[in-house]
Amino acid sequence: MREGKNGNTYVAGIDIGSVASKAVIMDEDKNVISYVAMPGNPSEDSARIVFDRALEQKGLSPEYIVYIVGTGYGRVNVPFADRVWTEIRCHTVGVHHLFPSVRTVIDIGGQDCKVIKVKDGKVEHFAMNDKCAAGTGRYLEVMEGVLGVEFSKWGEMVAKAKGAVSISSTCTVFAETEVISKITQRVPVDEIIAGICEAIAYRVGQLANRVQPEPDFCLTGGVAYNRGVVLKLSNFLGADLLIAEAAQSTGALGAALIALDSRTLPEN
Ligand code: ADP
Repeated sequence: MREGKNGNTYVAGIDIGSVASKAVIMDEDKNVISYVAMPGNPSEDSARIVFDRALEQKGLSPEYIVYIVGTGYGRVNVPFADRVWTEIRCHTVGVHHLFPSVRTVIDIGGQDCKVIKVKDGKVEHFAMNDKCAAGTGRYLEVMEGVLGVEFSKWGEMVAKAKGAVSISSTCTVFAETEVISKITQRVPVDEIIAGICEAIAYRVGQLANRVQPEPDFCLTGGVAYNRGVVLKLSNFLGADLLIAEAAQSTGALGAALIALDSRTLPEN
């Protein structure tokens, strides 16, 4: 078993996503002692910066970290990781640690969406959309930019909206044109935002239906912070969604938990 500097043993999980990088540092008792989420491309620079920031938060040097697991779309760009694992496995492990009752994990990231059916903390099967930005965080970022309304206001606006416009285009570029045309027609902004959230919920919900989803549901990834999407997705599924406080870092959390288990493996 590896031991860190001065007998202090920590592990790290680093999730290099398509639009954001996340790092979690954990002690031997599974306590998260620091975590960082920052915007960034899936590059080695991002991996090094996010890891350094997580270390700095606790005044640690890299010698304290005995095992590192990399994950995420850009996991090949964590050359200092001892091992890499898929986001599917890491999100499943992270969610099972936080909410053991969860049977369906929905991860909406910047560039893809995954629905994972979980049994006894393990991946039973999954469905993924990584071909099209519609139904992902990037689509929402484009809409936030066009409307000029920050995500932090979306939840309240969707809850109060008297209706929701229908956004028929599945392509992000055409959907953006549709939204611009609704703005020109003076459709109330809250109804446009409600329509965007409904469109996402419909797309993600359709993906979920491919795995015969069962409660409890957990939403992970940065889009879990978007209360408008949460509201509409929960309506579509007819169920509440469990959401961790640091939902965006669930994959990094799972990676750190896997690192903790792996540190006892013999080194070859
Ligand atoms: P990836 O792992 O693919 O990089 P993330 O899981 O980090 O993606 O999620 C990124 C997405 O999360 C962004 O595209 C954005 O839509 C959404 N997001 C991030 N922070 C927030 C926030 N504070 N409020 C609402 N949405 C957010």
